[in-house]
Amino acid sequence: MVETIKINDNTWRFEDDSVRFFLFCGSGRAALIDSGMNTPNARQMAEELTDLPLILINTHADPDHISGNGAFEEFYMSPAEEENYRENGGKGTLIPVKEGDVIDLGDRPLRIIDIPGHTPGSIAILDEKYRVLISGDSVEDGNVFMFGKYRDIDLYIKSMNHLLEYDGMYDEVYAMHGSIPVKPDLVGKLIKGANQIKNHEVSGRELDLWGNKVVLYKFPYAGFLYESRL
Ligand SMILES: [Zn+2]
Repeated sequence: MVETIKINDNTWRFEDDSVRFFLFCGSGRAALIDSGMNTPNARQMAEELTDLPLILINTHADPDHISGNGAFEEFYMSPAEEENYRENGGKGTLIPVKEGDVIDLGDRPLRIIDIPGHTPGSIAILDEKYRVLISGDSVEDGNVFMFGKYRDIDLYIKSMNHLLEYDGMYDEVYAMHGSIPVKPDLVGKLIKGANQIKNHEVSGRELDLWGNKVVLYKFPYAGFLYESRL
């Protein structure tokens, strides 16, 4: 069961089990940001809340973020994510976005920030007007997935350092998993944790996740699910 929660007059979040996605409205158009895990009707859900022309922006293409993409002929996504998207059965035409691009919804510019690492084409979206950062799965206080194909912890650390350059431009982070909102200082903590994992300075707990042997590294602020090194 999906829950629709109003954040303010121009912003909604949809809670779809363990993942969420958003509807942002400007003065001229609206954007669905991701399309959920069990929600092929995501477009319809958004159109029940706004009459504005609707676009779709995906933070990345893991299966829990694209279930409603099929209702859109085109969508905004990093081209570095296209392979992952097609492998997950994604359809439609990718409109490429990259670092520095601004998608204006009308008095509500959304700035694209490239943060590869969780996936090759992960992006963050800076909502300058409301001073919010949409972080996809890269900044969250649940467990950041860093095992398996396409994950790259070095790139992740580099991207999180890049994100620090936007410090002071947002007051809250909206993640697609875990708590909402989380505070911007989580970025620095995740950098520290990811470095500690990379440098073997911390130990984790091996577990089986959908047939994958992974290691959970749990910190007070978040966790990482990383490759088993055995
Ligand atoms: Zn996810």
